[in-house]
Amino acid sequence: MPPADAPLLPVVGGDLSVPLVDGRTARYVNLDYAASSPALAVVASHVNTVLPLYASVHRGAGYASQVSTSAYEHARDVIAEFVGARPDDQVIFTRNTTDALNLLAGVVPGDTVVLDIEHHANLLPWTRTAGRVIVAGATVAETLGRIETELAARPAALLTVTGASNVTGETLPLRRLATIAHRYGTRLAVDGAQLVPHRRIDLAFDGVDYLAFSGHKTYAPFGAGVLVGRGDWLDAAEPYLFGGGAVGRVSLTEAVWRTGAARHEAGSPNVLGVTALARSVQELALLDEKAWGAHESALRHQLVDGLTALPGVRVLQIFPDSVEPVGVVSFAVDGVDSRLLASYLSAEWGIGVRDGWFCAHPLLERLGVSEPALRASVGVGSSAADVSALLVALARFLHEGA
Ligand code: PLP
Repeated sequence: MPPADAPLLPVVGGDLSVPLVDGRTARYVNLDYAASSPALAVVASHVNTVLPLYASVHRGAGYASQVSTSAYEHARDVIAEFVGARPDDQVIFTRNTTDALNLLAGVVPGDTVVLDIEHHANLLPWTRTAGRVIVAGATVAETLGRIETELAARPAALLTVTGASNVTGETLPLRRLATIAHRYGTRLAVDGAQLVPHRRIDLAFDGVDYLAFSGHKTYAPFGAGVLVGRGDWLDAAEPYLFGGGAVGRVSLTEAVWRTGAARHEAGSPNVLGVTALARSVQELALLDEKAWGAHESALRHQLVDGLTALPGVRVLQIFPDSVEPVGVVSFAVDGVDSRLLASYLSAEWGIGVRDGWFCAHPLLERLGVSEPALRASVGVGSSAADVSALLVALARFLHEGA
């Protein structure tokens, strides 16, 4: 595997210098892409270009409003193309993945089935609406079997799964899942929060009916997310939010709701966030898929191999047979408080990692992790030097203690 010597794309903050505890400074080593990725450099320039022409969309005849409206609507087309949406799919802009999945939970006309390994954002909206939780098997193959058994025994309108785990980076075979779900008349939704920043997805080819993801994990700023998928359920349901923009005509006794994306986008939308996200995916679309995969895979291997070689470090894993996991790796260190270790990495080395339960309490419990864990995650702005910095710092910590 060729090493990922350099970032694949320039990101802002790639050369940030941060203060250390002893008064020195160090290059900031960002290994927390899974929480929020840095913006691509082209996205930062896009934001600067858009700001002077920034106006409310669908609400004004002024030049800036016209430009903003057209940029906002163009962003839908860009995103639809990037994810391989079908002609009758809708692209609805939300605040983030959590928002998109909550929206979806309100439109499903029947039972939902979900796995127990999900981020809370793809668990709580469904358990709240009496969704059925399947305990994933010890392998991907066993899990697919359990899903098939459940759907065959009891019909469900929707199966919703994570595309890539925010704890282990492991992926599920979407095309095979779609085939199983569709065999029983069930639609497939994918929580793409950790998949879309790392891998091309093609809804039409894979048979995925709904996809949710976040701008702030996809190299764009906070505040914009996406739900894309089949329009019929979306048009048949009550609007997600009630207010201006979602409605055609209003009297004091009646409201005629719009169809299409506007139905679920009441209120003034996040033009800047949405167009920045579109700019980001335009750039990701230009990446050679093989080079993207090789970069990610090299960094992940370096991380997993390096962590596994350290004494007392356990890399978390759900599925030993997961194919092409993404660059998100969590680990526990025997007898070490992860908050303390994360603070040490930041204060002494300028390294940013995530510590905690990763909004996936049932999964960590299932993995036998009784204390908070640590997570290192990479992306297109990462390089082998970032991963090496973490491995050197951890080795020093384990050798010397904090
Ligand atoms: N799903 C997964 C797999 C995630 O990793 C996250 C965030 O970490 C979410 C959903 C929620 O994303 P957001 O906080 O952007 O709504």
